Amino acid sequence: MEWRRALVEIGQFGGAEIAELFAVVRGIEGELEEGKVRQVLAGKVLANLFYEPSTRTSSSFYAAMVRQGGSVIPINDVTYSSVSKGETLADTVRTLACYADVIALRHPADDATLQASRVCPVPVINAGNGKGEHPTQALLDLYTMVRELKLEEAAELRGRVVAFVGDLLYGRTVHSLVKLLRLYSVKVVLVAPAALQLPYTLRQPDDVEMSLADALAVADVLYVTRVQQERLPVELQGELRGVGFAYRVGVAEMARAKPSMVLMHPLPRVGEIEVAVDGDARAAYFRQMRYGMVVRMGVLRGMVG
Ligand code: ASP
Repeated sequence: MEWRRALVEIGQFGGAEIAELFAVVRGIEGELEEGKVRQVLAGKVLANLFYEPSTRTSSSFYAAMVRQGGSVIPINDVTYSSVSKGETLADTVRTLACYADVIALRHPADDATLQASRVCPVPVINAGNGKGEHPTQALLDLYTMVRELKLEEAAELRGRVVAFVGDLLYGRTVHSLVKLLRLYSVKVVLVAPAALQLPYTLRQPDDVEMSLADALAVADVLYVTRVQQERLPVELQGELRGVGFAYRVGVAEMARAKPSMVLMHPLPRVGEIEVAVDGDARAAYFRQMRYGMVVRMGVLRGMVG
């Protein structure tokens, strides 16, 4: 399906769609720098429908809409909505489609956006579905790599080493990003405890598993994630509590990394990257959030602009 009709999974993007979107996003960055953002979403309404906690995704979609002249219906805590009365996702989505031109949906079920898109007359955006995918995060992560590595286009990532660190089993941002990077023949390095390794369905034969120390020596991008405690089965919770500390990136680790390495994290961090690293020029995670808003501005412009 065309992503402008429903953005369900990252597989809807090929190289051409990425190039087209990133050209728009680059233009929006320029508009922001000049303080003259085109108000192309004036009169348009986004419904933010979040069944799971969110800080960055919900507020960046909000800002992305408002900065372009649009407005937002924020539903961030479904406990206070009719969902608590037992309403189905399909009915909630259909209702919101009466008021909004586009819906950003975060939900604990991996197939929620797909199901919603089948009944929803307006475009739906997957804003994070369970342990499945988080496609707009992958788009902003890729954009961050392009900008931070000072590339002209994503195709120049070919042959670069991207090391994924942490919970690669339940981390949906990793799932979407790994799929997206396959378009560009990136070398994928996996740094994770055996119980949280990347699912085989997402692997390719030349992916390599490494220790954090080895990965630090070769990585062009280090993509660190937290352990998704809320998604771990009960039997793993005790065993994996505190596992993040084995993958902690501090000043000592950064000293072993390439001077040009880009350190990323989708956030929130819960100890995986020491605060002392924040001042390192390679620490890109807060700039990554800024790129996130701009990329989502581009996504919304494409869908309802
Ligand atoms: N914020 C990201 C997500 O919603 C990453 C995380 O929660 O660990 O998936």
